[in-house]
Amino acid sequence: MRLPKLRELREAVTAVLSPRFTTRFPAEPCVVPERYRGKPRFDPDTCVGCGACVNVCPTSALTMVDEPDGAHPLRRITLRYDTCIFCGNCQDNCTTQTGIQLSNEWDLAGLDRRSMTQTHEHELQRCERCGTSIGTKKHLAWLCERLGPLAYANPSLLLAGSEALSNETLSAAPTQAGEVRTSDFARILCPRCRYELNLWL
Ligand code: SF4
Ligand code: SF4
Repeated sequence: MRLPKLRELREAVTAVLSPRFTTRFPAEPCVVPERYRGKPRFDPDTCVGCGACVNVCPTSALTMVDEPDGAHPLRRITLRYDTCIFCGNCQDNCTTQTGIQLSNEWDLAGLDRRSMTQTHEHELQRCERCGTSIGTKKHLAWLCERLGPLAYANPSLLLAGSEALSNETLSAAPTQAGEVRTSDFARILCPRCRYELNLWL
């Protein structure tokens, strides 16, 4: 009986004299490894509001709501970091590659889950004939830039890109409802209206 007791005593003394294996948080800040997967963060400069990250989020921590009506049609993308599992799918599938990235922010505890959200907004582009929302203005301008000369094949993209560059409305004046004119080619249209226009003219 005595020997096991002595062994335990030796282990206890060794443990007391050994260096710590735990951090002193919260007495000292905890430094996490460089590649730690913490709270996802949107980059307002490079996020174009396309919604690809929302589609691949496995826990619906990312959601997207379009508000196409009103004077300023908007898309709202919300991150609920209380339901995020830090899988990195959003970062890996981001259209612009840097629109959302996992930071090493890890201390996300709070008392009210409703406050654990972050929302950012993008201006929506509506079809200038039927009013359907096509996507965000920033996304269309980004596509135009990426396509370069190929964007000339799509007048809507070209117009959206040119309007973003000049900050002016370049589309042709609106026609009456149901009316079809050649000038409609120089308007930002949804794929369906573009298709119908091509058939009618
Ligand atoms: S996929 Fe990237 S660019 Fe598109 S909404 Fe998400 S973060 Fe923004
Ligand atoms: S890290 Fe995963 S769970 Fe969290 S927002 Fe991105 S896709 Fe969703």
